Amino acid sequence: MATIEVRENQIEYHGHTLRVLAVHIDHQLVSDSFALFDASSETVASHICAECYAAAGGELATCGHYDIAVRRREDTIYWFLADHEYVSPLMQDVPLNHVWSFPLENYERQLNANASGLPDFNLADIHLVLRRATIYRAELGLFTIPDVDDDPQGRLLLDVVARSIAADDLAICPPPDRYRTIRIGIETDGVPETVVEVGIVNQRCAMRFVAHPSFPLWLTCGEIQRNVASIAT
Ligand SMILES: [Zn+2]
Repeated sequence: MATIEVRENQIEYHGHTLRVLAVHIDHQLVSDSFALFDASSETVASHICAECYAAAGGELATCGHYDIAVRRREDTIYWFLADHEYVSPLMQDVPLNHVWSFPLENYERQLNANASGLPDFNLADIHLVLRRATIYRAELGLFTIPDVDDDPQGRLLLDVVARSIAADDLAICPPPDRYRTIRIGIETDGVPETVVEVGIVNQRCAMRFVAHPSFPLWLTCGEIQRNVASIAT
């Protein structure tokens, strides 16, 4: 979970004073020129277009640079980069597919309003985040830690990961009470491992993608259900 701080800010542009917002995540400045947004905003623009903003009287970003999608699930607010065209990361050293999580209470306090009307993730959101990640080809799997008896090289698991993230029945599910963390080593020096967590929840297999790819919530689908049952227990 990250913290968010939103402060009013002003920018001077060719004689116009533009009202904008400065946003800090974990006490680090993300941008001092967010377009104005409130707790119910489903999209947020991290950098105003000063030209359009000035032309619109400093109230509207008119050229459509909304780069962040805002979602709520239970007591957490999520931000992720939504625009396929917008390819620069929000913060240095943070990958394009990163999903920020903020406590609902912190978000509402910063924006001085109720955020309960925000939408939950839909399938397109999940696909958008996951498809931006590096997915290794199954044949690159070399070993698993801890050992997976029926899949020592992690190739089946890499295959499950690749097919699941494209699956049309992929859905967020509650976290299991207990789970295993499996690291899949890749056959190239310096390439980070794929890390997944697997467990059983409501009699179904669930998986959380921790690294390469990553998504903050537990997911399930037929592919996972069929292929990780022996590993998940
Ligand atoms: Zn513009």
